[in-house]
Amino acid sequence: MAGRGLSIQLKLPLLIGGLLVAVTGIYSWAAYQTMQSSASATVTTRLGTVADQYAQALTTQRDQFVDAVRSVAENPAVRAYTAHPSATARASAEAALRPSGIQAQQVVAVELWTADGRRLLASGDAARWTSTRATAPFRQELVGQFRAVGDAIVYPVGAPVLTGATGRGYLVQWRVITLSRQAREQVSRLIGSDGHLFVGNAANDVWTDLSRLVEAPPVDVVHADSVLRYERPGTGVVLAAARVAPRTPWLVLVEFPRAVAIAPARLFLRQMTLIGGTILVLGLVAAWATSLTLTRPLARLTQAAETVAAGDYAQPVAAQARSDELGRLAAAFEIMVAHVRDARQRLEERVRARTRELEDRNAELEAFAYSISHDLRSPLRAMEGFSQALIEDYGDRLDETGRHHAERVVLAARKMDQLIDDLLAYSQVTRADLPRAPMDLQRLMRAALEQLDGEVRTRQARIVVEGGLPAVVAHGATLTQVLVNLLANGIKFVPSDRAPEVRVRAEARNGRVRLWVEDNGIGIAPEHHERIFRVFERLHPATNYPGTGIGLAIVRKAMERMGGRVGVESELGRGSRFWIELPAGATFPAS
Ligand code: ADP
Repeated sequence: MAGRGLSIQLKLPLLIGGLLVAVTGIYSWAAYQTMQSSASATVTTRLGTVADQYAQALTTQRDQFVDAVRSVAENPAVRAYTAHPSATARASAEAALRPSGIQAQQVVAVELWTADGRRLLASGDAARWTSTRATAPFRQELVGQFRAVGDAIVYPVGAPVLTGATGRGYLVQWRVITLSRQAREQVSRLIGSDGHLFVGNAANDVWTDLSRLVEAPPVDVVHADSVLRYERPGTGVVLAAARVAPRTPWLVLVEFPRAVAIAPARLFLRQMTLIGGTILVLGLVAAWATSLTLTRPLARLTQAAETVAAGDYAQPVAAQARSDELGRLAAAFEIMVAHVRDARQRLEERVRARTRELEDRNAELEAFAYSISHDLRSPLRAMEGFSQALIEDYGDRLDETGRHHAERVVLAARKMDQLIDDLLAYSQVTRADLPRAPMDLQRLMRAALEQLDGEVRTRQARIVVEGGLPAVVAHGATLTQVLVNLLANGIKFVPSDRAPEVRVRAEARNGRVRLWVEDNGIGIAPEHHERIFRVFERLHPATNYPGTGIGLAIVRKAMERMGGRVGVESELGRGSRFWIELPAGATFPAS
């Protein structure tokens, strides 16, 4: 998980921020939805009420207009002329037909028809406004559909002309609807909330918004009984309710822009977002501050722990003046570090004391070995000397066996002398002061080869020194001894039927010099590579390869004392590659 890598200091504010966003987001959304649906419900009710009221108002007007037409139709002059159209009656009938009163200017034409469909009279601009098709059914009182004539809308109001109960004809008044921007705005203000009123035919062909003719709504409003929702070009999405005005062929349609209807919800959402944002910022700041007070001491503690882990117990753990869990943790940690520090100190002191003790014992032991070896030498020399004298002076008086025994005594004494020599050399390397200085390895190698001249000749060995040898920092005599021991082994541990070949070469290694001594001898099995460097450890019986088992022990001790190392790479039967490593004495020659 990626989150695991984040610091606690970041995680805490992120978590709290996330929670705050989730809570305020969910809460705001739920509240917004509720607000919106309640706003919709309010709008729905208002739409219905307003549409009902205007439909009712239209019907009331319709009744008034029908009453007005009826009263003209009941005029005796009109009745008389309809029953008997004569030239004398015409003038008074025409006078009766002429509209009067304040509503007269809305009447643009009047027609008088016979029952069988002949027009007896027409006043006003009948040719422009009227339509025969529209007037046909006026044998009873009613209003007709709206008719668009140019930019205007007219509609017929009709009533029968009766004599007793007999219909003699019918009267039709054509009224115009006064369309004006003012009328539209007035009604709109009355409705409120940017609402608009539309009036049209139930046949859905003619519609007006009271200022001009408009397109029919894009949905079927005639048969809708719930709130409609559609897009009105130029206004956007609207909510609408439609009502048929009773006893008319007309429809009333009231529209509210949806944006206005849900505006309170929108406003609420904006406010909530603002409040939510403020809460989020405050929460984040608080979380960040809390996180800092928690993580700062933790970071200090972590740093202290890391310092201790790196082995530095001396740095004091910064004491924290707090009494909460963190303070207690810091205090406990401090005590723990103090305990560990004390324990470590005690341990180190004990190790030092033990080491000193051990060194003293070693020194004593070595001194003892040295003096024993030294003291053994004179009786041994005496034994060898007297045995030799016995053979030389009394040899002719001894028989074969006696002489043989005396010779064995001489040989054993010599071997023991060699052993004592080697032990003394080892003891010397162990105890003596070995002051180091830059040494010419080439020169030391020559000295070693001189010492080995006898062995080289006897075994007809070939010793090749490849390239030049560099300077190293060492104790000259000791390093010569090391070279002698390694070269001597390289010549010695070769089967007698093979001429020994020893190659010597040096290589530079990070400011140190590694000298390789490689032979073509019997090799050493890997499991013995460590063992052979210990005192008296030999892998072969002295009859095959004579020796004391101290040579490599001297090499290792000498290298250790000179700040160097020794090692071997070998397999049985494949020759051996011994190496020693020492600090470089000067620049290493390029070739
Ligand atoms: P020594 O030579 O007196 O036996 P060393 O301490 O020099 O004693 O060597 C220890 C043993 O390591 C030898 O007895 C021999 O078995 C083995 N050894 C040392 N050098 C070589 C070599 N170059 N090749 C094979 N074996 C070796």
